[in-house]
Amino acid sequence: MIDVLVIGGGNAALCAALMAREAGASVLLLEAAPREWRGGNSQHTRNLRCMHDAPQDVLIDAYPEEEYWQDLLKVTGGLTDERLARLAIRASSSCRDWMRSHGVHFQPPLSGALHVARTNAFFMGGGKALVNAYFRSAEALGVQVRYNAPVDAIELDSGRFVAAHIGSERIEARSCVLAAGGFESNREWLREAWGQNADGDWPADNFLIRGTRFNMGVLLKYMIEAGADAIGDPSQSHCVAIDARAPLYDGGICTRVDCVSLGVMLNRNAERFYDEGEDFWPKRYAIWGRLVAQQPGQIGYSIIDAKAVGRFMPPVFPGARANTLPELALQLGLDEATFVRTIKAYNAACRVGTFDHTVLDDCRTEGIAPAKTHWARPIDTAPFFGYALRPGITFTYLGLKVNEHAAVHFGGKPSANLFVAGEMMAGNVLGKGYTAGVGMAIGTAFGRIAGTQAAAAALGRPVQNELQEEQHATS
Ligand SMILES: Cc1cc2nc3c(=O)[nH]c(=O)nc-3n(C[C@H](O)[C@H](O)[C@H](O)COP(=O)(O)OP(=O)(O)OC[C@H]3O[C@@H](n4cnc5c(N)ncnc54)[C@H](O)[C@@H]3O)c2cc1C
Repeated sequence: MIDVLVIGGGNAALCAALMAREAGASVLLLEAAPREWRGGNSQHTRNLRCMHDAPQDVLIDAYPEEEYWQDLLKVTGGLTDERLARLAIRASSSCRDWMRSHGVHFQPPLSGALHVARTNAFFMGGGKALVNAYFRSAEALGVQVRYNAPVDAIELDSGRFVAAHIGSERIEARSCVLAAGGFESNREWLREAWGQNADGDWPADNFLIRGTRFNMGVLLKYMIEAGADAIGDPSQSHCVAIDARAPLYDGGICTRVDCVSLGVMLNRNAERFYDEGEDFWPKRYAIWGRLVAQQPGQIGYSIIDAKAVGRFMPPVFPGARANTLPELALQLGLDEATFVRTIKAYNAACRVGTFDHTVLDDCRTEGIAPAKTHWARPIDTAPFFGYALRPGITFTYLGLKVNEHAAVHFGGKPSANLFVAGEMMAGNVLGKGYTAGVGMAIGTAFGRIAGTQAAAAALGRPVQNELQEEQHATS
């Protein structure tokens, strides 16, 4: 019988598989996707948010634990488990050497990416290179990998893992790590979670899924129905406003449009609806999907002028471009008169101070609602640009409740041999909101913990590694 069964093929699963194998366990990894689509949402990522007390290789200055924690506390509005959050934060300071030992390379952030040179370590070649490196390393260490292996049921005995099922096939193991992602690819479940709004729309019908099509939430649902303790609200997720022309699945980061804070955002009625300059873009980009989802027809339009060009990462696909505001309205299909009126009212309200996109500057509006509190400059210099944006769902936050050992819980009691990592438990730390790079920080920390614990459970002895220290420090 195999020691550790790992279900999933993304970052959390691979971290778990590698740690379990390093601890001496035999490991089988089951990935629902075919080989060419392996790696889940992790294949689309770019970076990891890392705590550090002084400059460290690709990271400048310092990003101490307390600041990281305060950032997380702010974006989640307190919907986070401090103990587990601090565990993930501390683990993010020391995991890069381990990642490098499995073939992951880092690079400094490209200028103009996001304001993240201090906080986020970028993967050379992106998440695709990271998962390829992990798969290569796992196979070299003897981890068995099976593709096209969607697990549809988990056999349990009083909270203990017994076997996984793929149709009629039954796979036994001494312990198991669930790392099969959230339910973001499951459009029916999203529809149910978001419900119908006052206009009679089902907002989720207009969502695009930024990542993999394989995170259907089959095991999440299965486990919750089997009595595992759940955490989080099914309608909470990481949801970005992305290019409305993106494909339904796997558009990835090239569908991002990062100019919202440099201009204004309008809805289908050509009206503004939220402060575009509330905070730095990496701390705010993940709220715009939800904001657009709450607008009529679940569509928004980011409007900028020539002054914004060169100040943000240019979108891969050009937007609408026009030399006059009425012409831009026409191209975007917005009511011309209202569009021009909205922009003129905004322009008149701008109190331009010293524009500086790298600080929370003093360029703001006065006397209009909603206000734009930073980086407010009139949209008055041709050419003008507009991008239609739709809610792009990244990952959902409903998950399984864990403790610092990543154990699945049943009625408040931790399972002795069933663990969970990544999106399937991210809701313990992310009740709502997001700050860039935290998804991979949670997946890496808890993937590694889950793999260590699963190996210990399977081998019947404690496993010693540097993670233990971090766990003790937070327990
Ligand atoms: C476009 C995009 C960009 C992102 N950028 C970043 C970033 O730069 N930094 C960051 O921190 N986070 C980022 N994220 C979020 C990040 O991807 C996730 O937080 C992280 O990858 C989650 O890892 P995971 O292993 O839990 O899930 P995934 O990587 O999604 O892996 C889940 C795996 O489970 C498999 N699976 C699903 N169901 C089953 C089943 N029933 N049986 C077997 N296998 C199954 C899937 O095929 C997949 O391999 C991004 C996400 C997207 C979509």
